[in-house]
Amino acid sequence: MAKIAMKNPVVEMDGDEMTRILWQWIKEDLICPYVDLKTEYYDLGLPNRDATDDKVTVEAAEANKKYKVGVKCATITPNAQRVEEYRLKQMWKSPNGTIRRILDGTVFRAPILAKGITPYIPGWKKPIILARHAYGDVYSGVETRTSAGDKAYLVIEDGEGGVKEKLLVQDFKNGGGIVQAVHNLDASIASFARSCFNYALDVKMPLWFATKDTISKKYDHRFKDIFADIYAREYQDKFEKAGIEYMYTLIDDAVARVVRSEGGILWACKNYDGDVMSDMVATAYGSLGLMSSVLVSPDGNYEFEAAHGTVTRHYYKHLKGEETSTNSVATIFAWTGALAKRGELDGTPDLVLFAKKLEEATVRTIEEGEMTGDLIPLFHAEGIAPKKLSSRAFLQAVAARM
Ligand code: NAP
Ligand code: MG
Repeated sequence: MAKIAMKNPVVEMDGDEMTRILWQWIKEDLICPYVDLKTEYYDLGLPNRDATDDKVTVEAAEANKKYKVGVKCATITPNAQRVEEYRLKQMWKSPNGTIRRILDGTVFRAPILAKGITPYIPGWKKPIILARHAYGDVYSGVETRTSAGDKAYLVIEDGEGGVKEKLLVQDFKNGGGIVQAVHNLDASIASFARSCFNYALDVKMPLWFATKDTISKKYDHRFKDIFADIYAREYQDKFEKAGIEYMYTLIDDAVARVVRSEGGILWACKNYDGDVMSDMVATAYGSLGLMSSVLVSPDGNYEFEAAHGTVTRHYYKHLKGEETSTNSVATIFAWTGALAKRGELDGTPDLVLFAKKLEEATVRTIEEGEMTGDLIPLFHAEGIAPKKLSSRAFLQAVAARM
């Protein structure tokens, strides 16, 4: 059989630990036998980020802009313990944070549904797609510790260096503490709003957006106003024609409503809310290993990844020569998402079809009772006793169906 040809490469960003192992196996077992794979490779594994002073991350993001489509493996975001473990030159920033800062845009996360895997929230019948604003807030925050007697101010200078505004944050006269400043940009919030409105129209799902504007009367309120303004001027008619609604509410109310809902919602979240809530939603649908994730930038760049981390505990078992049963589904879907988008942009329908077939084979493997350990307790289908497979055996079970 001739392999499927690619016109343009996808930007391949390799990562760390157990997901780096899965990455290699997915290519070997599921992609390279069928596709003449063209990638522009960047090694974002922590040792190489350290060796390149993290320049490799920036280069990968720039390449993603150039080629439009990227696929990224999970990576370690170093903390103090990792600095010691890997003897790092410094505590490098989150690669996802760096990539999102460069590409801007919105992260859409959708659960991968398979018959037999029932959500922890039994009322959820349809997918909840979570749209996470991928720019600013605490992810590009500036923070420091203060000592007793310090005073912290928020100072705004105009273009000439003149002080426009000086606000007292806190007088630490009674003891030291911590202080943080965060920002966002009107343009980024507007492009977040437009990507959400467009995506809602694409998938014909109602859009919910929530912040804490009652407490944050300037910062969060700005998000609410920009969304409301863009909706009224550009999208209200289209939403009414499509028979879907846009609803704004407070974040705590949104959480309560989402839990009570039957799903079928596009839920737009600020950066931090999206970080936290996407893990809640993914876990409630079954497993972090069944959550796909794509960053869509306003100028049409796509970066696909799995929503989970590098699965450290499994990696240490793997290093000891023990068999692991790590779920590779979200990483497979990162690859299929990227290949399908590449095919769509390049006008190569074979590649799009291949991606669809690989997704079907993956879901069918689970539905027919072959899966990794994390899914076993969640699987309930009449007449099928689920079978736990090792990480590699699962990939081979998918390959058999391909
Ligand atoms: P994690 O790697 O997602 O793993 C947390 C736990 O969830 C695992 O120990 C495992 O539970 C379960 N799990 C997650 N993914 C799984 C999968 N595919 N198959 C089976 N079980 C899975 O999160 P973490 O332990 O908080 O973080 C580990 C490293 O990943 C950190 O260095 C962090 O910086 C990084 N991280 C990267 C990204 C990213 O690149 N997008 C995102 C999050 C975290 P059991 O151990 O109980 O089996
Ligand atoms: Mg997170």
